Amino acid sequence: MGQHVVVIGGGPGGYAAAVRAAQLGARVALVEKYNVGGTCLNWECIPSRILKETADRLMDAGRRPEFGIDLEGAPRAGEGFSQALSVLSRSISRSSR
Ligand SMILES: Cc1cc2nc3c(=O)[nH]c(=O)nc-3n(C[C@H](O)[C@H](O)[C@H](O)COP(=O)(O)OP(=O)(O)OC[C@H]3O[C@@H](n4cnc5c(N)ncnc54)[C@H](O)[C@@H]3O)c2cc1C
Repeated sequence: MGQHVVVIGGGPGGYAAAVRAAQLGARVALVEKYNVGGTCLNWECIPSRILKETADRLMDAGRRPEFGIDLEGAPRAGEGFSQALSVLSRSISRSSR
């Protein structure tokens, strides 16, 4: 290919296009104004699913006395949520380099 390509936007559309162009031999610059991963990773699909999963787990956790489970000192839900997002975000950033 040997072309220079600039992709604007690091969402699923942009980073896939950038990776493919690089695989075809182009020199690629990916321009992203917020975080690589776009709407799906940073604001909508993934965060909303993590929130739903967290809510489901919390509902289950509320029923633990019924099953004789004692979770004294268990980690708080909010910490896991931000950790999960930052792991995903770092992974996408690495694969786009
Ligand atoms: C609530 C919700 C749930 C969803 N769930 C799913 C799902 O389960 N499965 C699924 O497949 N899809 C889902 N989607 C759709 C999915 O989010 C989109 O299809 C996908 O994000 C589109 O990717 P994109 O790269 O075209 O755009 P985006 O992901 O929006 O990426 C565009 C990127 O461009 C950047 N950008 C914009 N302007 C500039 C600029 N001038 N300079 C530099 N960067 C710029 C933005 O910051 C952004 O990162 C969902 C959407 C919503 C709203």
